[in-house]
Amino acid sequence: MAVPKSKITRSRRGMRRSHDALVAANPNECTNCGELKRPHHVCASCGHYDDREVIGMTEEVDLDEDAA
Ligand SMILES: [Zn+2]
Repeated sequence: MAVPKSKITRSRRGMRRSHDALVAANPNECTNCGELKRPHHVCASCGHYDDREVIGMTEEVDLDEDAA
């Protein structure tokens, strides 16, 4: 098992952790429906990307329908 050779000081630990913060998401407005979406991703609400429909949006499908 790897064992640390010496103690990491509070200072060095802090220096390492200075890059650990999470950055907030930076959403864009969809040009088709105006919903907020992640940049460079297909819009989750209308399926458009670059003014083009790339994912066909269908009505809600009830997966439990055939279980009865
Ligand atoms: Zn959209």
